[in-house]
Parts: sequence; C-alpha cells; structure tokens
Amino acid sequence: MLNQKLLIIEDEINLQNALKYYFEHENYIVDTANDGEMGLSKARSVDPSIIILDLMLPKLDGLEFCRLFRIESDIPIIMLTAKGSETDKVLGLEIGADDYLVKPFAMRELLARVRALLRRKSNNNHKYLISENLKINLDSHITNLDDKKVKLSPKEFLLLKLLMKNKGKVLNRNFILDHIWGRNYIGDNRTVDVHIRWIRKKIESGTERIITIRGVGYRFEK
Ligand code: CA
Repeated sequence: MLNQKLLIIEDEINLQNALKYYFEHENYIVDTANDGEMGLSKARSVDPSIIILDLMLPKLDGLEFCRLFRIESDIPIIMLTAKGSETDKVLGLEIGADDYLVKPFAMRELLARVRALLRRKSNNNHKYLISENLKINLDSHITNLDDKKVKLSPKEFLLLKLLMKNKGKVLNRNFILDHIWGRNYIGDNRTVDVHIRWIRKKIESGTERIITIRGVGYRFEK
C-alpha cells in the first residue's frame, strides 16, 4: 500500500515536531502548517489522506478551517483541543471534524484513530462525483461525459468539483473566487463567469446543468 499523506496543522511547534517524528516513524508522509491559513492552502495543494487539526490556531482557527474546508472536501479530520468541554466536542463534530481528541493525549491513541478513519475512508469510496452522464474522478481529476473524456484545466476542474459537491445550492461568486483562487487573488468576479462559460461549453450540450442566479452566483442543477 502507498504511504498515506498526513497534514498536521498545529501552532505548538514542540507538539508539531513530536507528531511529525512519530508519524514519519510509522511510515506516513507528513506535511505541517503552523496556522490555519497555511493549513488551508496546504490542504488544497498537497491533497492529504487525513488531517490532524488543532482547534486553537492563529489566523484561522480549527472550527473556521473545518467550516471552509468541508465545503470542498471529504478528507477525514481529527481535531485536537486543550479544552474538554462537551460544547466544543459537539461543535467540532457538527462543523465537520470526523473525530476529536483532548490534549494531552497518547500518541498511540491518536495513531489508532488515524488508522480507524483511514480504514473507514477506504471502505466508503468517494472517488467519483456523478450526475447523470457526467462523472468526475476525484483522484485522477479525469472528467467524463458519456464515457468520453472532457479536457478541463485544473481551475475548471476544481470549480466543477465545488459546484457538484454542492449540487442544488447557490454558490456566491465571491465565495467561489475565495475557494478556487484564494483570498489573495487579485482579480474580480468576472474570472468566475469566464470559467463557468468555459465549463458549460464542455459539459452542456442542450441540457442546462449550471444555472445562473442573477446578481448572486451559480447553482449546479444536474
Ligand atoms: Ca494551538
């Protein structure tokens, strides 16, 4: 089996180092981030198998990270926290973390939870998003329409994935811009419109799949 990629988002450097050391020893490929924003950008770029996420983080805290990241991804998240109150636990899980561990914890306990989540993930296969004759492969990033390959640019693919994951929901253009191009992107909403137009050309032939909500954004219909 291929080595699993683990992303650790933790601002306590001693703990981050200890986790990195421990999981590398267990043959995981480990990437780290010191704050929530860096974590989000790494989560998007390195495509980890699982994320260990501290709750209290600079720039973007763990809950906010979950709220943003869950919209675009099903990657399992284990939340770490120093607080043990029930409210935090419920909140963390409601917002999209898959498991929860209170500091201080034993490394072996964390390892057991990581393994359990990865097992669960490989059992329910989230490899494809399918809508009628349109199918996208989340691993290989290959898009098929009636079994014919559709060529999408990386940004077009991410945008289509975001829309399909949120099928039936209206996504605001600024929200799309933030998610696909990042908060620091210099440009405007028209970038989104242009990409939507390109995607439509490639996946719509007679059937309207992406609906324009005037003055707001877009909704993936079918
Ligand atoms: Ca912290």
